[in-house]
Amino acid sequence: MKPPLVILVWLVSPALLTAQTAIPNPLPLGHDRTRPLPPVVDPGRPSTPERAGKAPSDAVVLFEGADLSPWVALDGQPTQWVVKNGAMECVPGSGYIRTLQCFGECQLHLEFAAPLPAEGSGQGRGNSGVFLGGTRYEIQVLDSFQNTTYADGSCGSIYNQYPPLVNASRPPGEWQTYDLLWTPPRFAEDGTLLAPPRMTAFHNGVLIQHHTPLFGETAWLNRPPLKPHPEKQPIALQDHGNPVRYRNIWVRELGAAGKPEFQLPDARLDSYCGVYESGGRRVAEVSRRSGNLLVHFGGVELVMFAESPTRFFAKTVDVQAQFDFSGDPKTIRITVGQDEGGATAHKVR
Ligand code: MG
Repeated sequence: MKPPLVILVWLVSPALLTAQTAIPNPLPLGHDRTRPLPPVVDPGRPSTPERAGKAPSDAVVLFEGADLSPWVALDGQPTQWVVKNGAMECVPGSGYIRTLQCFGECQLHLEFAAPLPAEGSGQGRGNSGVFLGGTRYEIQVLDSFQNTTYADGSCGSIYNQYPPLVNASRPPGEWQTYDLLWTPPRFAEDGTLLAPPRMTAFHNGVLIQHHTPLFGETAWLNRPPLKPHPEKQPIALQDHGNPVRYRNIWVRELGAAGKPEFQLPDARLDSYCGVYESGGRRVAEVSRRSGNLLVHFGGVELVMFAESPTRFFAKTVDVQAQFDFSGDPKTIRITVGQDEGGATAHKVR
């Protein structure tokens, strides 16, 4: 078919051609065959009521039926939660649990089941919760099947902020799924909020939170404002006094590629705190702030993140700290860039 005249005129117009080329197109050519192909991922398989599914091949598996080692108590000590019949179960009174590994922007899948027979009512029935950002931001886990409570505390609510769009709950005892997309808040260096945290959530496959912006931390009775924190934080599950069960938990990191990060037990971090000297000269001082180490070195204070139980890195500059406490003296080795300007010092107190 012949193109209409108006299109031919447009195609050959020098002015338009200039305008077209003046603004670089950020995308590759359409159908560019040299464009990198997406990585291949085995999608795993979904769960059935009887059998937990399998995580996608690029996911970090947080629980697949037996191993509780990715989870610890909030202070990093072993958790008292138990594994029964391929599920992990909250032991009432034992406290929240959290992951050792920290995550920023991510896709999180997990499955939960409220206790059967159902006991209690309102907030007292099958209450737990999934926390992103450490223990700051909760999407509620509750037995909301024929169990009325306040809307912003029902299952799938962003607690004390937003009710779920619908109540897609299954009966107690049945396995239910959460599929969450989490974007952590972004803060400027001076602590100014640049973008709020956001959550999208599917409950049993049904959309219940749609790119929802959180305006603060979630809490009972009050609404604490957002406060600056490092982007990557543990994921936590709530002990609210009910033996809620979980299975098939996995997470896919969506942010920029980087080193894995861990929030080590407080006791281990505290063991590194102190003053380090070399030849009678103070080289570094180490302290703890929440789940991170602060290293005073070279006249600056660096926030250090754990990539292993003994190795830490800064994000603002290429500095690493390696602790060796296997002998006497206990040492820290600080390296800058490719070892230039590095220093080894021993702990004096
Ligand atoms: Mg809760």
